[in-house]
Amino acid sequence: MPHDPMIHPVADRVAGLNARYRNHAAQAVLERALTDPHVGRIALVSSFGAESVVLLHMLSVIDRSAPVLFIDTQMLFPETLSYQAEVATALGLTDVRTIRARPEAVAARDPEGLLHQADTDACCDLRKTEPLERALADFDAWITGRKRFQGATRATLDFFENEGDRRIKVNPLAHWAPQDVQDYMINNRLPRHPLVARGYPSIGCAPCTSRVAPGEDPRAGRWRDAEKEECGIHFINGKVVRGPLPKEEEQPMNMLVTDQGFGKDDWTNGFVSAEQIGAPADAPMLAVDLPSDTDPASLAGLLQGIALIRVEFPSFADGRGFTLARRLRLMGFNGRLRARGHVLADQYAMARRAGFDEVEISPELTARQPWEQWQARAGWQSHDYQSRLRGTA
Ligand code: SF4
Repeated sequence: MPHDPMIHPVADRVAGLNARYRNHAAQAVLERALTDPHVGRIALVSSFGAESVVLLHMLSVIDRSAPVLFIDTQMLFPETLSYQAEVATALGLTDVRTIRARPEAVAARDPEGLLHQADTDACCDLRKTEPLERALADFDAWITGRKRFQGATRATLDFFENEGDRRIKVNPLAHWAPQDVQDYMINNRLPRHPLVARGYPSIGCAPCTSRVAPGEDPRAGRWRDAEKEECGIHFINGKVVRGPLPKEEEQPMNMLVTDQGFGKDDWTNGFVSAEQIGAPADAPMLAVDLPSDTDPASLAGLLQGIALIRVEFPSFADGRGFTLARRLRLMGFNGRLRARGHVLADQYAMARRAGFDEVEISPELTARQPWEQWQARAGWQSHDYQSRLRGTA
């Protein structure tokens, strides 16, 4: 009898998938979700809203023919419809399926198109949940763009979720921060939804989406003045599963990541102690902050007087810091070299190979990327040129 992974209960498969892929980056999670036999038949569900283009682009890079389900509630902004067509064409997506409520159901339950004024849950059921349920009947799993930062109801999202023991929900961007989304769109020059520039950072149906003022929560414009936070498609058995709020950091302090684990940041505003670096008491103790676009030639002749150099990473996609580190090492700098800012666990091995000794990250990034995710990269030494040179590999 052929081995069929789908005979295993959804809960078991979800647990296995989360264990297997928990240290993977978003792209890798998406790629594995599309091919892992324990996931099964899968579709991406997209609203073609403000941030949807990120997942759509990732999908197009991996498999343009993968099914994409677009829920047209027939209450969308016209700009969303034109953006949907533009993005699908630009990315070459070949299987975008538009799903809608049955005309007879709309005629019976919302003939005037005003149900949203009386009962938003009933309207979302009619126009989103039920059509999606029908469309997903052919699939074992679906991909969403939900992220932990999007509120308390999403604070504990995993990459893989058990949806009522029936299907698997895959959230490749669960651990992304708002800046990650922006960086991805900028770096890949992706087209933006035209309403974003007009004050709509989160876009749903026209009657239920309003502009957001500067400083407001990006999702504040969704069902404004109503208690509703989620449309029914993310309910399980009619209920949102609420997770605990993220713990507040008592002292927001950056953390250092080294091969040994997380440690407290010991940056001392321009100077370090001899003890910190194991240097003689009369050694130079200068600590220097460098932007990633620094020309290392400007430091020629000065490096022996510096104990610690900290290189700023303004975005995880900015590779200039790695190049700077390599060049500083080639120039003979043998003090501590630290990468600071937007560095992801996935990049730890690359940072170490480039010559960095450590990475300094914010409390927010520490919470999103716990030590286990960094630890998985701790095998960087096995291929490391620097270590072979130093004889420590
Ligand atoms: S978001 Fe508003 S208009 Fe759209 S389906 Fe839900 S209640 Fe209806």
